[in-house]
Amino acid sequence: MRPYEGYVYAYPHKTAYRPLDPRPPLRDVWEGECADALFLYLHVPFCEMRCGFCNLFTRTGAPAELVAAYLDALRRQAEATREALPAARFATAAIGGGTPTYLEAAELTRLLDLAETTMGVDFASVPLGIETSPATATPDRLAVLAERGATRVSIGVQSFVDAEARAAIRPQRRAEVEAALAAIRAAGFPALNIDLIYGIDGQTPATWRHSLDAALAWRPEEIYLYPLYVRPLTGLGLRAHDWDDQRLGLYRQGRDHLLAAGYEQVSMRMFRLPGGASGTEYCCQTDGMVGLGCGARSYTSRLHYSFEYAVGVRHVRAIIDEFVRLPRDAFTVANVGFTLDDPERRRRHLIQSLLQAEGLDRALYKTRFGADVLDDFPLDEFAGRGWVEEDSAHVRLTPEGLAHSDAIGPALFSPAVRALMGSYDLR
Ligand code: SF4
Repeated sequence: MRPYEGYVYAYPHKTAYRPLDPRPPLRDVWEGECADALFLYLHVPFCEMRCGFCNLFTRTGAPAELVAAYLDALRRQAEATREALPAARFATAAIGGGTPTYLEAAELTRLLDLAETTMGVDFASVPLGIETSPATATPDRLAVLAERGATRVSIGVQSFVDAEARAAIRPQRRAEVEAALAAIRAAGFPALNIDLIYGIDGQTPATWRHSLDAALAWRPEEIYLYPLYVRPLTGLGLRAHDWDDQRLGLYRQGRDHLLAAGYEQVSMRMFRLPGGASGTEYCCQTDGMVGLGCGARSYTSRLHYSFEYAVGVRHVRAIIDEFVRLPRDAFTVANVGFTLDDPERRRRHLIQSLLQAEGLDRALYKTRFGADVLDDFPLDEFAGRGWVEEDSAHVRLTPEGLAHSDAIGPALFSPAVRALMGSYDLR
């Protein structure tokens, strides 16, 4: 089993979504759902440049008029959504992308106003996370975010070695990265997260250690270690098997280094300082999410939905151009999605829980689904490899299981989801 099949950040993946026909009104979609502790996600699909490893929904070089039109469309969407969910209360919020700080300070203010006044989020009591980049984490933007109560700022550094950043097709200078980190710390956010990438062409244990130590010098509350997923095109041209070995080796090195530095492992990718800033815990297995923006997903217990999905430049541009022209009425329905039946809900709960270091709580699963998880999903194959262990309370991944999360997650997809993903025409 290859260790790097795919990153399961949500189940099912958007490529399993299909156009909904007829398109259900949001009011019906949310009927009967528990809506008193929702997650509000705002998607900003703009970046200064396209990183070579990126497969997210984003476009570069958006002119100011397009950004303004996008914020206008978000307001129409927020109004229509609020009308359909009048009783919704939000327990947590995040702004992702893209690069949300592609927005200027005044545009960020508009976005946060919209979340507060239209969606009713109270940032004084609700944790707010936002993603940023070295080039856009400027003091004026950070001041807006700090003043509005942002609790977590996540910056994609990827590598503190300039040549590696170039190799990953993300040109940046170390001095710019350090200045951005200093500005984030100076703004006083409770939590800083730094993203790093391993598996870059030319990266060695020594240069990886250099990046890890450079990140640790800021004592961030969280660090994410991401394996690179886009094959290096330059230099040595590693064979697939060697690249897997390189990534597994660097993963183990990074994990051990962060554990020795006092961090705890939350998942294959996430490490955090114990006792760090925490807000309301959002439980992704069970809670609902309202996504605003053309790349955002929304989750109820029965339906996951979004707008159309694309990665290719031309298609992303076309989808954004269409989104900004949509009238308010167009936002009252769900467009594309995936309906979760009971077996898929069980499977989702399994996947999302098992890939966390603390593992799956068997009693919680039984309360929710009336069965023992191992009766529903015998995990013998993974247990046989030494990747899964169980006791009376939990089923969890072993350290080697966590190292192979990107093999285990995709292997747990249902045949139906696998078929939908396989037949998706990725544009
Ligand atoms: S900054 Fe993030 S979203 Fe933008 S292109 Fe790079 S990886 Fe993709």
